[in-house]
Amino acid sequence: MQFHSDTKCARRTGWVTSELYYWHDTQNWCGFLEPGLTLQPGVHVENPETKRRMHGLVEALDLAPRLHALRPQPASDEVIRLVHPQSHIDHIASVCSGGGGDMGELTPGGRATLDIARLAVGGVVAAVDKVMTGEWDNGYVLCRPPGHHAEPEKAMGFCIFANAAIGVKHAQKAHGVERVATIDWDVHHGNGTEKIFYDDPSVLTISLHQDNLYPPNSGALAATGEGAGKGANLNIPLPPGSGSGAYRHAFEKLVLPALEAFKPELIVIPSGFDSCALDPLGMQMLESRDYAWMTERLMEVADRHAKGRIIVTHEGGYSAVYVPYCGVAVLEALSETNVRFEDPFADFIAQYGGQSLTPDQEKLVKTVNDAFFQ
Ligand code: ZN
Repeated sequence: MQFHSDTKCARRTGWVTSELYYWHDTQNWCGFLEPGLTLQPGVHVENPETKRRMHGLVEALDLAPRLHALRPQPASDEVIRLVHPQSHIDHIASVCSGGGGDMGELTPGGRATLDIARLAVGGVVAAVDKVMTGEWDNGYVLCRPPGHHAEPEKAMGFCIFANAAIGVKHAQKAHGVERVATIDWDVHHGNGTEKIFYDDPSVLTISLHQDNLYPPNSGALAATGEGAGKGANLNIPLPPGSGSGAYRHAFEKLVLPALEAFKPELIVIPSGFDSCALDPLGMQMLESRDYAWMTERLMEVADRHAKGRIIVTHEGGYSAVYVPYCGVAVLEALSETNVRFEDPFADFIAQYGGQSLTPDQEKLVKTVNDAFFQ
């Protein structure tokens, strides 16, 4: 056992959190389904615990004082309308004022959800401002509710507003950024981000996800964008059981070449840790060092093309035990700490059978490659 008070960071990494992020109330659902006569009321899977514990670990490791803390302010309707119509904001307001309930598809919220969702968007937008003005090198937003499933007119999959996508639009509008890339490693398809930018050639959207998990029939490899945006959407639907070998191979063969060709001026990572080995909803096998590795590869791209600018938005991840270690690994990579915390779970997970690239996974990556780089 040792304390980590000698940790130093080579990069200025922003750290956006708010106690109110943990007060978004997902009610007494049975996992991810509304309770009923055959579904005992309980705790919703998207409850504050995973993120609160990550916040706690960042404090316990003494990493927090090395980061650049920012208290988010609520986003205005005008900022949210960069992606969503006013009717969507009004709908969320009306469910909240009625006491809460399902705000779209599988997306419960409570009385304060609109205000807290504004704070999530506000955190991402503020992080974009800090990174674009050079005050921070990069930033991590530990927000709730998450955002990558939210479509312009629909709350979906525990997401109210499209936090990351609004951040992208804000970077383009307020800071004149021309090309932005999003790399989403949440185990579920980043359908909201894809939909928002599907015909937009200025935003390269990449999603690595478990094949056909959620939303149903979403995230196919053939969906590569439309119109002017053709070729600016890369879906990598990995089979269940994909681990370190599959993700790293997909990164090297698909993600990194696509980014090198696109040359983004800003990278946004909708980061879900439900692709980790201990997640109750996903069936992938990543461990914390894999998230650090992917972050480092994206930092290399960002250093070459985007002055190092990266924003991470926290998305899914439902293992209260393990999410904190994955999140800390990303933060350590972003901030380039001189000491890396030793994840106590990592060696267990690394030895799981199937962590190495399998022929099926290699073949899938080849198929995606042929579809995308045709
Ligand atoms: Zn997810």
